[in-house]
Amino acid sequence: MSAGADKRVVVLAGDGIGPEVVAEARAVVDAAAARVGLRVCYDEQLIGGVAIDATGEALPERTLDACRDADAVLLGAVGGPKWDDPNAPVRPEQGLLGLRKGLGLFANLRPVRAHPALLDASPLRPERLSGVDLLVVRELTGGIYFGTPRLLEAVPGGGTRALDTMVYTDAEVRRVVALACRLAAGRRGRVTSVDKANVLESSRLWRRVATEVAAAHPAVELDHLLVDAAAMRLITSAAGFDVVVTSNMFGDILTDEASVLTGSIGMLPSASLGARGPGLYEPIHGSAPDIAGRGLANPLGAILSAAMMLRHSLDCPAGAALIERAVDDCVQAGARTADLGGSLGTAEMGAAVREALARVPAQ
Ligand code: NAD
Repeated sequence: MSAGADKRVVVLAGDGIGPEVVAEARAVVDAAAARVGLRVCYDEQLIGGVAIDATGEALPERTLDACRDADAVLLGAVGGPKWDDPNAPVRPEQGLLGLRKGLGLFANLRPVRAHPALLDASPLRPERLSGVDLLVVRELTGGIYFGTPRLLEAVPGGGTRALDTMVYTDAEVRRVVALACRLAAGRRGRVTSVDKANVLESSRLWRRVATEVAAAHPAVELDHLLVDAAAMRLITSAAGFDVVVTSNMFGDILTDEASVLTGSIGMLPSASLGARGPGLYEPIHGSAPDIAGRGLANPLGAILSAAMMLRHSLDCPAGAALIERAVDDCVQAGARTADLGGSLGTAEMGAAVREALARVPAQ
């Protein structure tokens, strides 16, 4: 795509509160784009439960093709009680897994910031949260979730045995740690690689490769931490972390733990990136069936995901900074949806961000 041409964004609103929060994210992107001279065009496609209802598939081929051709994909959420039967042959989350695989998205980025005005919304004491501004980079396409062989078998003499395997190649570790180092160079220059090298062979490989990769990034300081210690430090002194890079399963667990630091799951954005091609941007929350259709959802996670999209896939860091500043300003000014103890609806929160954006002075 040539410079100055329209950026193409596939919008996968999905299920539950997905369409509600994505509509606000899109409107905020339009407002930011108008300020910085970015041209964005959207292509709406189906994924998840709505795609199953319409086509019988969670990720129709047409959706994947459109995503492959796009600059970025903005997703709401998938799933809900209607499609919850665990024995159903097709399930909404297959759409997400198919998308990650189809786009080769090997790294999941989850920034976690404790906003000064929201410190009281977290179950942790404010002094433990002050200054928290970290980025977890989770390996997304390898490790124990994709290991072979997997086995469930009867043990001779009685009982059952289950087996999962955790496999990493040096190439898989290298690319995700290199990405973490590049991201750290644009932040505070610190990478913490989290593993279980005192027990696992795959972690010993991870640690060795991480050390080699960091040596090629002299502006970055690397340290290693065992996952059990990392889990503790996230609760006791998370402000000490800058970029945390880790394997698929450890990242899955640590990112959920880290999300508690910010007070509401509705605040948190994510990006999933591959070596090339479009990135996938989505809030970390699900489809929230308990509040879907009522205009109550917090759209900030989706809006901040859109900001990440501008930075990482649409080559528009100024637009990303504008959106992030607008979210900060309106939270600072007291804008709160119900999950943050306030009374604003989804559309009102979106409008508050756009108003704050209009007030951000030109740089
Ligand atoms: P969830 O994140 O949807 O909801 C958990 C709780 O957080 C609920 O009380 C919900 O109301 C609240 N919440 C979530 N997002 C919110 C927001 N933006 N504003 C205010 N409150 C918010 O998780 P769940 O209940 O475990 O899952 C519901 C459905 O979503 C399931 O079908 C699940 O499979 C699916 N899911 C999808 C994704 C995804 O699309 N990436 C992720 C997680 C769960």
